[in-house]
Amino acid sequence: MKGQLSQQRRDGNQKKTYRNHQTENQMQVQKKVVSGKKQPGEKKELQCPFAQKCGGCQYQGMPYAQQLEKKRQIVKECVGDMLVHPVLGMEKPTHYRNKVHAAFGRDKKGNVISGVYENGSHRIVPVTQCMIEDARADAVIATIRDLIKSFKIKTYDEDSGYGLLRHVMVRTAHVTGEMLVVLVLVSPILPAKNHFVKALRQKHPEITSIVLNVNDRHTSMVLGERNIILYGKGYIEDELCGNRYRISPNSFYQVNSIQTKVLYEKAMEYAKLTGKETVIDAYCGIGTIGMTAAARAKQVIGIELNPSAVRDAITNAKHCSCKNITFYQGDAGEYMREMVAGAKAERQEIDVVFMDPPRSGSSEMFMDAVALLAPKRVVYISCDPHTLGRDLKYFRKKGYKALECQPVDMFPYTDKIEAVVVLCREERTGQKNERKGKSGVAKSGNYRYKEKLRKV
Ligand code: SAH
Repeated sequence: MKGQLSQQRRDGNQKKTYRNHQTENQMQVQKKVVSGKKQPGEKKELQCPFAQKCGGCQYQGMPYAQQLEKKRQIVKECVGDMLVHPVLGMEKPTHYRNKVHAAFGRDKKGNVISGVYENGSHRIVPVTQCMIEDARADAVIATIRDLIKSFKIKTYDEDSGYGLLRHVMVRTAHVTGEMLVVLVLVSPILPAKNHFVKALRQKHPEITSIVLNVNDRHTSMVLGERNIILYGKGYIEDELCGNRYRISPNSFYQVNSIQTKVLYEKAMEYAKLTGKETVIDAYCGIGTIGMTAAARAKQVIGIELNPSAVRDAITNAKHCSCKNITFYQGDAGEYMREMVAGAKAERQEIDVVFMDPPRSGSSEMFMDAVALLAPKRVVYISCDPHTLGRDLKYFRKKGYKALECQPVDMFPYTDKIEAVVVLCREERTGQKNERKGKSGVAKSGNYRYKEKLRKV
């Protein structure tokens, strides 16, 4: 059940940390040692002693070039007959994760440990360093391990329900260097919290914010919904493709900032924007793709389910004085359906749709609506080639042909791969009429639903 949850959702703020079910947002805490004999012409690869128990880095020990080729083959098998370019990899494929989770507990001797859950159990594999996580974040987690000993803070025991501290999440900003520490507790009360915050900041002046997140539920989710700011702004800000973004604890943000830029640049190239287009950014998170596109389009509509991400997106657009973007909070499929059914005056000609759904892929409702809105291009960004392949087949039935695919390695040493695909409409005739009712008259909009949507 927990594993299934992890597989289905991409918004890792809410997921527990089983490495063999890890997604791009799950923690991957591993030790870095060098081992293995060097083969002629082959670079020595990093190995991790926790690899088997952790399961987070499925490609441990595999030369990086081989990892990239393997990922390209996986994408090719999933997307079928189309041009699949070689994977765009990283120059230095280590310490790329800007978000780090650690589960806290105690070993048999009562020592405080932090790390990942061993596969299928609630036992924590204690780990201190990881070759793919931000090293500064790992250092903060090590300090917290020491501090909770001296502050006598109890770690939470899932079986007995006793204790306080469950997890620590650290988010680091690639460009600005800001750092957010989230302490996940079962209760909103952290004894001696001011002293704790002071001690942590003394050791790590690079921390720009500390948040107490309350998670008192017996679920596989890491974060609860309530955040109490202990220090700083309660979020980090980072820069990406020329814009500045606010990233709150619960909002989705791509974990590999360097490769996100590569991914977005490819997505923009595929969209072929000229400045005249009306664009949809579906599954928009905090609005990063939409705001990147807004500089090259007439107007952009962002749609996102997570209210916290939408709040961030609205703030981001305001701060960047990005006036040609509007955000709606709701299910992307339902929003698109409403758009199709909208009154004529409100209907918009959509030229390009960017879609970046979670691991489970898109919905038929969404894709049906895209086909009826009939954009010239659809740029599909996917973190799961299997659901991507499934959705591309459906799009084909709806008259959209996938032209080419560019995989981007966002998650070196793991078996995860991101890919961007551009689809074009095969023909336009007959499609427009489907947007009207049986009488041929445009259907009126669903105003009840519209009220539910939040708009800048
Ligand atoms: N495009 C963004 C986010 C991609 S992650 C980026 O590049 O950062 C996928 C996003 O889809 C998450 O923010 C998640 O909250 C959102 N999401 C999940 N299901 C959704 C749905 N049914 N409708 C709209 N958004 C959804």
